[in-house]
Amino acid sequence: MLPQTRASLHTLGCKLNYAETSSMAHGFTERGFSVVPFGDESDLVVLNTCSVTETAEKECRQIIRRIRRRSPETKIVVTGCYAQLRPEEIASIEGVSLVLGTNEKFEIFEYLQNLSSDAAPRIAVSEVSGIDAFHGTSAAASDERTRAFLKIQDGCDYSCSFCTIPKARGASRSAEINDVIARARQLCHEGFHEIILSGVNVGDFGHRTGSSLLELLLAIEGEDEITARIRISSIEPNLLSDEIIALVASSEKFCSHFHIPMQSGSASILRLMQRRYHTELYRSRVERIKNVMPHAGIGADVIVGFPGETNDEFLDTVGFIESLPISFLHVFTYSERPGTRASQMSGSVPVHIRRDRNRTLRLLGEKKKRAFHTSQLGREAIALLEPSREGYTENYVRVRVDDVPHGSELVRVRLGECRGDLVMAEPLEVLAQRREELLPIL
Ligand code: SF4
Repeated sequence: MLPQTRASLHTLGCKLNYAETSSMAHGFTERGFSVVPFGDESDLVVLNTCSVTETAEKECRQIIRRIRRRSPETKIVVTGCYAQLRPEEIASIEGVSLVLGTNEKFEIFEYLQNLSSDAAPRIAVSEVSGIDAFHGTSAAASDERTRAFLKIQDGCDYSCSFCTIPKARGASRSAEINDVIARARQLCHEGFHEIILSGVNVGDFGHRTGSSLLELLLAIEGEDEITARIRISSIEPNLLSDEIIALVASSEKFCSHFHIPMQSGSASILRLMQRRYHTELYRSRVERIKNVMPHAGIGADVIVGFPGETNDEFLDTVGFIESLPISFLHVFTYSERPGTRASQMSGSVPVHIRRDRNRTLRLLGEKKKRAFHTSQLGREAIALLEPSREGYTENYVRVRVDDVPHGSELVRVRLGECRGDLVMAEPLEVLAQRREELLPIL
């Protein structure tokens, strides 16, 4: 395809996908393409897809059909986890020109050069078992340029029975520490005030090369030119060591916020899921964090309706969450993913019960969030604001700050009052503006 072509890109799924899409968008701009917002008229659309749930795949198919209906001439390129796992299924949807696998997405421009206008859809998907290269990317979150997602790791060597990610993204591999430091420094020079260390299994960083996440975090801590605050996107409980918790607690740089996938609070379901920890270990991690950082925000992912999950086992999960100082819950309804061990298990939970359980946990999650927000009222925090004047504190409280000058980005605030999902905050000092000038104390 020729430069001057209008290209738009759209992401489904995780933060890693967002980072990779933004990196592709950057590549398009560098090559003279005009990158337009997704939804605007364009000659080419790139969809970076997800396969974690059935819903994500369905959404992808709907989007392709919508583009085709509105604009039959637009070339559609589909990549990401869904493309890697079921390329033929995607290629059979009318309008798709090119399907690129996990590895091929980083060579998209070579494939585009050979894209002819009326040929049958082309599939370029290689086996993930052969992938050992790490493709680093970093990108601003959505189009706000507020937070940067820095990819430090990809793939996963675990074998959780419900998960397709190892099949879609391949084995665990990581960036070099020096490269992460250099990229983080550059992001700070570009003006980012928060960097989110992202990956599929971030805690596994460096596993293959004899390095470790702790080593990386210590290197970041010691690097003066990394001035942005650093958030760890998510970490498996069995990889969250006392040393990492202690470093985050003692550091001015790392955010007092952890996202620790739980998936279930039932010992028997965790075993069926082939997770690598017991509920006691999970509890010990949360308690350890709270002992040294009483105000830390702690998020958890939970799956409801896993095959064989009885009502009692579900209630074990409810009781487990209730007993822990968790601040945020991400609740997923189990869906059968082809090719996984879980999809072959007996004891399928009826869909209406899965939905009921989801609703119960969502309500519990709201209660937990409200309790956490309430515990934060009156405290001071540093909020990183988006143009909407909403944003996050270090410990991941979503705040709104009304009385700040337009363009204020990093603001010291006092948390005032809960309003729905948000906490209304009073500005105390603008630390940085979007255009980098510092403003005097308000
Ligand atoms: S840790 Fe388990 S759930 Fe997470 S990506 Fe790896 S296999 Fe999937």
